[in-house]
Amino acid sequence: MSVSENYKIIDHEFDVVVVGAGGAGLRATLGMAEQGLKTACITKVFPTRSHTVAAQGGIAASLSNMGEDSWQWHMYDTIKGSDWLGDNDAMEYLAREAPEAVYELEHYGVPFSRTEEGKIYQRPFGGHMQNYGDGPPVQRTCAAADRTGHAILHTLYGQSLRHNAEFFIEYFAIDLLMSDDGVCEGIVAWKLDDGTIHRFRAKTVVLATGGYGRTYFSATSAHTCTGDGNGMVARAGLPLQDMEFVQFHPTGVYGAGVLITEGARGEGGYLTNSEGERFMERYAPNAKDLASRDVVSRCMTLEIREGRGVGPKKDHIHLNLDHLDPEVLAERLPGISESAKIFAGVDLTKEPIPVIPTAHYNMGGIPTNYHGEALRPTKDNPDAIVPGLMAVGEAGCASVHGANRLGSNSLIDLVVFGRAAAIKAGKVIDPATSAPEINEAAFEKVLTRFDKMRYADGKHSTAELRDRMQIVMQEDAAVFRTAETLQQGVKRMGEIWDDLSEIKVTDRSMIWNSDLVEALELDNLMANALVTVVGAEARHESRGAHAREDFADRDDKEWRKHTLATINEAGDVALDYRPVHTKLISDGMDEKRIAPKKRVY
Ligand SMILES: Cc1cc2nc3c(=O)[nH]c(=O)nc-3n(C[C@H](O)[C@H](O)[C@H](O)COP(=O)(O)OP(=O)(O)OC[C@H]3O[C@@H](n4cnc5c(N)ncnc54)[C@H](O)[C@@H]3O)c2cc1C
Repeated sequence: MSVSENYKIIDHEFDVVVVGAGGAGLRATLGMAEQGLKTACITKVFPTRSHTVAAQGGIAASLSNMGEDSWQWHMYDTIKGSDWLGDNDAMEYLAREAPEAVYELEHYGVPFSRTEEGKIYQRPFGGHMQNYGDGPPVQRTCAAADRTGHAILHTLYGQSLRHNAEFFIEYFAIDLLMSDDGVCEGIVAWKLDDGTIHRFRAKTVVLATGGYGRTYFSATSAHTCTGDGNGMVARAGLPLQDMEFVQFHPTGVYGAGVLITEGARGEGGYLTNSEGERFMERYAPNAKDLASRDVVSRCMTLEIREGRGVGPKKDHIHLNLDHLDPEVLAERLPGISESAKIFAGVDLTKEPIPVIPTAHYNMGGIPTNYHGEALRPTKDNPDAIVPGLMAVGEAGCASVHGANRLGSNSLIDLVVFGRAAAIKAGKVIDPATSAPEINEAAFEKVLTRFDKMRYADGKHSTAELRDRMQIVMQEDAAVFRTAETLQQGVKRMGEIWDDLSEIKVTDRSMIWNSDLVEALELDNLMANALVTVVGAEARHESRGAHAREDFADRDDKEWRKHTLATINEAGDVALDYRPVHTKLISDGMDEKRIAPKKRVY
């Protein structure tokens, strides 16, 4: 008897199925539906509960509303921010399309904060400068107070409904349906409230499932950020790219991990150590507290290590905002005033906020080109695509963030590439044809894995395994790394991977079985975590967020290349590499200007 006989199965057919309803998924869904493509959007949480809702500081675009700016400067800053690991064509596309994408959001109805003349308000953010990095800091980050993601998400959801996209809410996507010759033909999902299994046949599947912040013990991201799309891609035998690059945000609230936006420093906030010193002036004389995130996080960690941390254990840093006008705080940063009160118990108009670098963003993910098409590089063609599969948002790796993302460059990535994927799909999908038939053998395999997890009766609980994984990642693959910690990390993660086959799920039901959801999420997290440590151990250089004490310098000769990691069922990770795209799309810029050089702020 086949496993599928025990399940109620419902079939659907669409032109496009988007998995994820964060900023990237919704922008893709809207763009697809606007063109009349029959579009489904599947999401495990209600759309406006996606992690994008928590984005505070803003979205970068060179609108020049508050001083001189240009897309070329934005592109330059992004390239420098990426520590020369990003793909130049994709970074050019991002910076060039950004203003248009923001005006579109404005016209869709996003309630941006305004200047006196009624233009979109823009604030300074780390690493965004005038004059090709020479400075001074530029006001490029468009904001709706400190609730920018919230404003964008609600607007995009409303617009998607208006264009008749079909939403499948509280459906948990399990795995891709692949043909025997590697074409993506659809996806399998579990409807959480009635226990039915849904097979979506589609001409294109877009993964917009977000990051995997929850591989770490202390993270700013939502508990739902479990890298599910990356897990599905890994199980399909496809590569993940540059996973060793994990961004630590300088200002997570000490203890709670909750984010205090970089906009706080953009509005004039600054960091101090136990001596009350504004130490960033020493490390980054030009950009100071607005140096890029990897730099600030490392400086904070160094201050703490050298005994100048604050608090009884001298293990964190102070973020000061009490010198700012309380009216500005109330108008521009109302959300973080609240967070500081609730999570740190401080009134930020009077006292500093205790902060510490906290896992925040995943630069790596599913490799794509700048149209959002997923890649499966071959020996002859490092840019070969996977037919039928796209990836956008934090799950994807275009790669516009390279080794380190600049603040406010993710929200713009979501909308620029969500839109790009829709434009591409509009060109390649023929609505007159039907979607591929179900590959029954592939489906049976997907359901067998699901069924095995449902009835798993081993000796380790999900919570125990997850705790172990999060602690290993926090201890062995954090802000500073060495061969010793990384080798230990690889070994310890391998042991947890083995124990995963001995997982125990106690609830066997199909209806609102959060025990099973968490087990499936853990399985996805583990694939992400394992390739992260293995990729980091192998990369013998320091670049962007990957800072090795034993290889302190960037090594462009050996290592200016993308890591590609595949993983098999036994948890063996195979690494390969693919060249960075150094060519721009247009020839409107002197390539010498963007050639690698020492990265100073
Ligand atoms: C606290 C915080 C503040 C931030 N502030 C900023 C900022 O000011 N500016 C900026 O540029 N960036 C910011 N970032 C980064 C940015 O917000 C995120 O990178 C971005 O929102 C990710 O969007 P996304 O659409 O890729 O995924 P998400 O918003 O994380 O959405 C993922 C979607 O996938 C769905 N999904 C996942 N797995 C499954 C599954 N198995 N089945 C079905 N559905 C699934 C979820 O339901 C959800 O709808 C911030 C991040 C955090 C954590």
